[in-house]
Amino acid sequence: MEKVSKILNNRLIEQQGLNEKTVRLLEEKHSELNQIIDMLNGLEWSEENKAQILQLTDNIELMEFQLQKLWGFPQDKNYHSHWLRNQKCSCPRLDNMDYLGYGQIKSGACLIHGEEARPEFWKNLKQARQG
Ligand SMILES: [Zn+2]
Repeated sequence: MEKVSKILNNRLIEQQGLNEKTVRLLEEKHSELNQIIDMLNGLEWSEENKAQILQLTDNIELMEFQLQKLWGFPQDKNYHSHWLRNQKCSCPRLDNMDYLGYGQIKSGACLIHGEEARPEFWKNLKQARQG
């Protein structure tokens, strides 16, 4: 089989029956995502940069949903993996790779996903566990 893409998984492209246009869009999105992650990883953690870091983190999630849609997969957060490339994140990386498809394991101490940065998320989680 002739390779359709130099950077994407060609077997998956064939399996999902993607057309040329979708493949190019996916390539653009992937390179955009890599740029966002590079930018994020290049920022120092500081009060000044905090809002931007959290915003870029949210952008990663948004883009992971967009990628899933383009690939023709359900838009399911549990299958996201690029957020683990965020070096500011201290959530358990290996556990999250093991749990891919089942759920995301967040650390309360993580500067980006923890209780201080995302109080609503943790409040809801605690309520869900109690209820
Ligand atoms: Zn985290």
